[in-house]
Amino acid sequence: MTTGWGAPRDAYELARDMAAGDSAAEELLWKRLGARQREGLILALGAQARLAAAIARTAGTPCPGLDDLPWDSIACAEVRAFARAAYASPRPVPPRSPCGRCLRLAAGMLAGLHLAAVLASGIPAETLAGFFAAHVARSREPGHSPAVPSGPAVREP
Ligand SMILES: [Zn+2]
Repeated sequence: MTTGWGAPRDAYELARDMAAGDSAAEELLWKRLGARQREGLILALGAQARLAAAIARTAGTPCPGLDDLPWDSIACAEVRAFARAAYASPRPVPPRSPCGRCLRLAAGMLAGLHLAAVLASGIPAETLAGFFAAHVARSREPGHSPAVPSGPAVREP
């Protein structure tokens, strides 16, 4: 499965809302996503968290890892495995019956892991919220979002 272009932007939005402590905005973002988009968001969050942790570790800063999260709080085993794999595996298998409640928990945990890794690098949460907000704004500018190819490539004259 591949991640749509909107997924990284959603992941930045969620990171921004978490860094700003805005749980109402988090909830709003989650509600506007469909099941497939939620899975894409989890993939994007896993990749971002992995990257942030790698950067923190390169800087010699200890930061939480996958095993520091309360995975048992995710009731659906398939969603739990998918979320862990989004962080740890190059080919995560999406759940066959995605449960919204567990996907939401998984998204929050991966976003938290990402946030913790970035904060471990010494960046204050307010700076982080501002950075992600700017990133979301930039990705909304016309012409910035790459078009998703939907058919045969257009031939240049
Ligand atoms: Zn569930």
